[in-house]
Amino acid sequence: MIFELNEEQKLIRQTVREFAEKEIKPSAAERDESESFDRSLMFDKLGELGLAGIVFPEEYGGAGADYISYAIAVEELSRVCASTGVTLSAHLSLGANPIYLFGSEEQKQQFLTPLAEGTKLGAFALTETAAGSDAGGTKTTAERDGEDWVLNGTKIFCTNGGEAEINIVFARTDKNAQKHHGISAFIVEKDTPGFSFGKKERKLGIRSSPTCEFVFDNCRIPAANLLGEEGSGFKVAMKTLDGGRIGIAAQALGIAQGAFEAALAYAKERKQFDQPISSFQAIQFKLADMATEIEAARLLVYQAAYKASAGQAYGKDSAMAKMYASDVAMRVTTEAVQVFGGYGFTRDFPVERMMRDAKITQIYEGTNEVQRVVIGVALTRD
Ligand SMILES: Cc1cc2nc3c(=O)[nH]c(=O)nc-3n(C[C@H](O)[C@H](O)[C@H](O)COP(=O)(O)OP(=O)(O)OC[C@H]3O[C@@H](n4cnc5c(N)ncnc54)[C@H](O)[C@@H]3O)c2cc1C
Repeated sequence: MIFELNEEQKLIRQTVREFAEKEIKPSAAERDESESFDRSLMFDKLGELGLAGIVFPEEYGGAGADYISYAIAVEELSRVCASTGVTLSAHLSLGANPIYLFGSEEQKQQFLTPLAEGTKLGAFALTETAAGSDAGGTKTTAERDGEDWVLNGTKIFCTNGGEAEINIVFARTDKNAQKHHGISAFIVEKDTPGFSFGKKERKLGIRSSPTCEFVFDNCRIPAANLLGEEGSGFKVAMKTLDGGRIGIAAQALGIAQGAFEAALAYAKERKQFDQPISSFQAIQFKLADMATEIEAARLLVYQAAYKASAGQAYGKDSAMAKMYASDVAMRVTTEAVQVFGGYGFTRDFPVERMMRDAKITQIYEGTNEVQRVVIGVALTRD
């Protein structure tokens, strides 16, 4: 077992950290406050750095790096701004990866290449009001009409929604099939007639990441935009989410790391009872727990990423990494606010934003209750 990053991974960490510190961090609090997405900063520049398609082969516009490098990139962005971290994660893991995994050669040339090059942004629309944890509740329909598919229905909670040019949308193509059967995946381009954007969510955290509804009203797309085989949508969604959880686990890890560093620096600086609060054992024990849990989370995240790149089965590993890292992010950020005392509760310091941002990592891409189901099934399957 080798516990050291290779030279390429170290370089990616250094490059993304410098970029995140210099360019992303200064506006993170203001973008959170104004709930605004800055596309040129939060996506176009990531494309210029080669991050938009970091794991995809160069022939499709990617950088040909491994999943550990990808996890490091999301971690470093999220260390200063979790909204920017999820922009990349949703774009790459949810928007682009299903095309890489299930797309035809033509679909890869047409859709994956601009996504990987960072000239187009991706999104993923699975969730509906009646289909949250249970994707088998999908009600959006797609009916075949000549050379087209006609989509009707509403998707909710779409990250990068409204901004993304290329959207992966799941719809029921067999009305007689039950639950997760009879669902198919489609590629829907932004300006397609009949495709519009509904409610934009106002959220507790990741407030500079846009989240909105997709509304399909007799939206006609070419038959060639079916992704994978007809009726295989549930499989496409589940495989995509297996990979997506590496991104969210890395996002959670980055949030925790950022909060820990802020708490450590503050504890050394803040004096009460004529001494730095870092000299109190109560504070040291908090810092010790935070640092230990972050390291444990990092090992789980990188292990899942390693297996993904090595072509090994990694669904259980990414579920474990996502579940554990997100629970760590919640605990660490809450304790970081505690270390800051009353100041931690104000918006003058970043830890309150980090605590709000951490919460979503326990919920999206499968709640942590659902991760336990995924892990439990994997453990007892054989
Ligand atoms: C900011 C944000 C961004 C999102 N981005 C996207 C996106 O880009 N694309 C997309 O498709 N979706 C997205 N989602 C949706 C997200 O993945 C869902 O919210 C999540 O999967 C949970 O679904 P739900 O909200 O309907 O909760 P529910 O499924 O209604 O769950 C409610 C509670 O019941 C629990 N529960 C449900 N079923 C079980 C079970 N079998 N066993 C134990 N407990 C259970 C849950 O864990 C949870 O605690 C996003 C959501 C948010 C808030």
